[in-house]
Amino acid sequence: MAKEGHKYIFVLGGVMSGVGKGIVSSSMALLLQQKGYPVNLVKIDPYLNVDAGTMNPTEHGEVFVLRSGLETDQDMGNYERFLGRDLTNDDYMTSGMVYQSVIARERALEYGGKCVETIPHVRDEILNRFESSAAYNGSRVSVIEIGGTVGDFQNALFIEAARVIKMKYPEDVLFVMVSYLPVPGTLGEMKTKPTQSAVRALNSYGVQPDFIVARSTHSIDEKRKEKLAISCSVRADRVISAPDIKSIYEVPLNLEKDHLGDILLEALHLPEKRTTSLSAWKKFTLAATNTKAPEISIAIVGKYFDTGDFVLSDAYLSVIEAIKFSASKLGRRAKITWINAKEIEKASSAGTAAMLSGYQGIIVPGGFGETGIEGKIKAIKFAREKKIPYFGLCYGMQLMVIEYARHVLGLKDAHTTEINKKTTAPVVDVMLEQKKHLADNKYGGTMRLGAYPCYLKKGTMARAAYKKELVEERHRHRYEINPKYIKQLEDAGLVFSGTSPDSVLMEIAELPRSVHPFMLGTQFHPEFQARPLSPHPLFTEFLKAAIARKKKK
Ligand code: GLN
Repeated sequence: MAKEGHKYIFVLGGVMSGVGKGIVSSSMALLLQQKGYPVNLVKIDPYLNVDAGTMNPTEHGEVFVLRSGLETDQDMGNYERFLGRDLTNDDYMTSGMVYQSVIARERALEYGGKCVETIPHVRDEILNRFESSAAYNGSRVSVIEIGGTVGDFQNALFIEAARVIKMKYPEDVLFVMVSYLPVPGTLGEMKTKPTQSAVRALNSYGVQPDFIVARSTHSIDEKRKEKLAISCSVRADRVISAPDIKSIYEVPLNLEKDHLGDILLEALHLPEKRTTSLSAWKKFTLAATNTKAPEISIAIVGKYFDTGDFVLSDAYLSVIEAIKFSASKLGRRAKITWINAKEIEKASSAGTAAMLSGYQGIIVPGGFGETGIEGKIKAIKFAREKKIPYFGLCYGMQLMVIEYARHVLGLKDAHTTEINKKTTAPVVDVMLEQKKHLADNKYGGTMRLGAYPCYLKKGTMARAAYKKELVEERHRHRYEINPKYIKQLEDAGLVFSGTSPDSVLMEIAELPRSVHPFMLGTQFHPEFQARPLSPHPLFTEFLKAAIARKKKK
């Protein structure tokens, strides 16, 4: 149960989706945290998937994996990056998850013979989840983002649950509507009417917003603030201006300029406490938006390209952010170029060289399936032979080992059984416990997921980067380096610098620095733990090597 007096802020979207509810939610949480109130952030995805793991990244963006292993929406990644801490399973829910619990309980006769209904049973399951999340160690405020837009069928039940919380604790609950105010080109002026309509729609649920965050290309002026205040019954000082800006990390700083932290405290009836400075955040933001910082050119060779650039950056969001954090720490600005692995597949060796030789570093990120795989392997071979810093993430590590087996060990047929079940050299093979899941078509939530410990071998690049012996990193995969090939690979010069504590699973592969400036791959996804104020050491080392390459030219 949540503690007495726990505060709730529900964040809802008006007019249209994709205007930054997640960033507003994270920014409010950061500001309250900075005011001395521990906050937890909750994301509600109203779709019926039980988790985000079964969705294609081109449809829904990256799948973000929590420490526990839960596969969630990319917003959870932003939450963790803003809060600077790990979130738990209680902080994420989908309609699928909620209904699944209710139905499981019904099957177990736990409703004592009653007719099980959306209201009250499903709604109460949502309420229970709000309360267990609020019970998080020490937290005083829950910021709960309800996905979608007001008026959707899918999220209505969550808004209804929020209304009930407000009824139970009228002094402790706020509703924030993040709305969009268009500035039509033909008129050149900001229009408030769609927001007025969205507020009316929310009113019809029995909910009145306490705040309106006015997202737009421009700042909202006083006249329009007044207009929204009068027509939507929201105090004018609670209509918050949120114009487009360069970097999402500037949003909390911008909101704080308007004293949003204090205004929220007042609205929540929370006394003012000590305020910790946002100076470290400010420093990071300045570095991250410094357009004069020298560039580091990084190529990401991936496959999720078919739906255009907009979605592309979503599909690899945590990787992009991890690069940014390490680049700003090094006083640089990363210029990322997307390279379609399918194009490399088709290219001649001169063509491959033309596509890749201009970069200071190459990344092959995580992935599944056959598309573009030979292109990725070609890119890895090129990086190894031309001594271009290379960083492989999950699939990028498995393919790095396959490339080594094929071209250095001479196992021409080397492959992963994910793609070629009949290969005579299954250098990457399905993990034992995964075989049954695949045979039974059990795909959802069954991969090797979440945080596992990893031991780092002395004298390796990995160990030098982390500066410790034991680390913990997050995983999401079904295949592994086949133990039968480890000795052969090591004898041929590949170093497994990180392993599971029992030495069974190979977690990091690298080439010695004497052979290559930076050729390293991780079976885990380091990008999930990179944060603005604590960049990931492996990304930082990779970029340092990339910077050094430019100097040599
Ligand atoms: N497809 C590979 C596996 O399942 C790699 C997964 C990934 O890159 N996340 O093992």
